[in-house]
Order: sequence, then C-alpha cells, then structure tokens
Amino acid sequence: MLKARWMALLGVMFIAATAMAPARATDLSIELRGARTAGTLMIGKTAVGNRVFLAEQELSVTETGHVVFGFGREASGAQQLHIEAPNGERATISIELQPREYDIDRVDGVPQQTVTPDPEQVARARREAQKVAAARNDMSQRLDFLQPLIMPAEGRISGVYGSQRIFNGEPRNPHYGLDIAAPTGTPVQAPWAGRVVLAEPDLFYSGGTLILDHGYGVTSTYIHLHKLHVQVGDIVQQGQLMAEIGATGRVTGPHLDWRINWGQERLDPALALEHFSITE
Ligand SMILES: [Zn+2]
Repeated sequence: MLKARWMALLGVMFIAATAMAPARATDLSIELRGARTAGTLMIGKTAVGNRVFLAEQELSVTETGHVVFGFGREASGAQQLHIEAPNGERATISIELQPREYDIDRVDGVPQQTVTPDPEQVARARREAQKVAAARNDMSQRLDFLQPLIMPAEGRISGVYGSQRIFNGEPRNPHYGLDIAAPTGTPVQAPWAGRVVLAEPDLFYSGGTLILDHGYGVTSTYIHLHKLHVQVGDIVQQGQLMAEIGATGRVTGPHLDWRINWGQERLDPALALEHFSITE
C-alpha cells in the first residue's frame, strides 16, 4: 500500500518536473543574406546551438548563430543547406542559384604566340601560388565579415568578376577581381577589419600582394600594389590605410585588383558590395 502511494507521488513529481522544464521549440529556420547566383557571398543566421551543413560540408557557426559561405564562378542550380537542431531534428533549405553570364571576349586570328615560358619563372610562379593558397586556407574565428562592407579604393571600375578572354579559341584564366583603376599612390583601405596573412611586395604575376583574413574562411586579396603599409600579423581596422595602388606584376596600367574569397572559392566583390554594404 505504502509503496503504491510512493509510486503515485513520484509519478506526480515527475509530471510536474516535466511540465516545468522549458519546452524548447526546435527552430530550424535560417535567415539568409546575399545574392542567389554564382560568385555570391552568403551570410546566414540560425538559432544558437544549431549545426549547419552545406551539402556534406559542416560549416563553423559563430557564437551568435552566424554562418558564412560562398559559391564560385561555375556554381549553378539548387544548393542544399541542412540545419540540424541539438535534438537531432533536421531541415533542408534549397538555395536556387540563378544562371549568370560573364563578359566573354573572343579574339580570333591573332598571330600564334611562340614565346616559351622561362622555366625559372614558371617554378617561381608555382611556389608563389602555393603560398597564396595556404594564406587563403586560414580559418580564424574573427567576425569582421559581419561588418557592413566598404570600397577599398576610389577609382573607375575597369574590370569585373568572371570575365574571360578567348584567343584563337583557347580560353585564358577568368578574371576574378573587381578592378579599380586609379593613379599609382592612390590609398587602399581595409574594406572590413582583418588580420594580414600575406604581404608580399613583388610576386611574379600579381606584384605587390596583400591578403586579409576576416574570419570563418573569408579572406580578401589586393594585387598590383605599389607600396605596402602593413605586414603579416598586423590587425587592421576598417578604413585603415593598408597600401597604395600600383602597376606591379603583369599589368598594363595602375589599378587595384580586389578579390574576395571563401576558402578556395573566389567570389564577386561587386555582388558582396551590393548585398553587404549596408546593415539590414
Ligand atoms: Zn584585375
């Protein structure tokens, strides 16, 4: 008898405890910002504690529930984002990337170039490319990419992301930067705060080259610089003078070639400016 009473009492207490525990509703939503096309930088915000996967790749989520990712020049169609709550419940969000066309410049009937590349220069360019790729692999927990983006320099836009020249039917490497033409010496400022992860005064192709880390895989690149005012390890504030525009490396005139990367994906700075230059 007594035992049964105890059991009943325990049962009541158990029900009471369950009712008092905050009923955590599972929130599998994600708020997404950014263009829905190739070359886009995207920032998402989900409930704190959720995990986020881009296809099979798990993304790092900030303490505030933000994730950042991007899609390169060739990306197209539906991309799957999976949100997983702490209780294991999952939702899939489809991001439909709209088709995009690039400026393609076909030049036919040009005399075949018979210049044999200097093997020493080829080896040098390859070493430098590895160094640049390593700098872009940096994965810090800086949150600079959440700041509204500003232009790194003033000048005329003289080249766009994704454009490509095809000589006698042979496609050259696409152009991944946003080119800003301005006289040598024009200041280059940090469009987001960041940490300098590469500062090279004279690379073979890109000349004076700077790479900033903005956190969670987001980096930005500045090439053909005339003068660098920062070094590796420096923390720069948004708007801080970092370098001067130049015509170093393989170029025809002074301009800044500005790039935004997410890991090894190259993104379009113009799209990022369009979507992230004001706080929403
Ligand atoms: Zn360029």
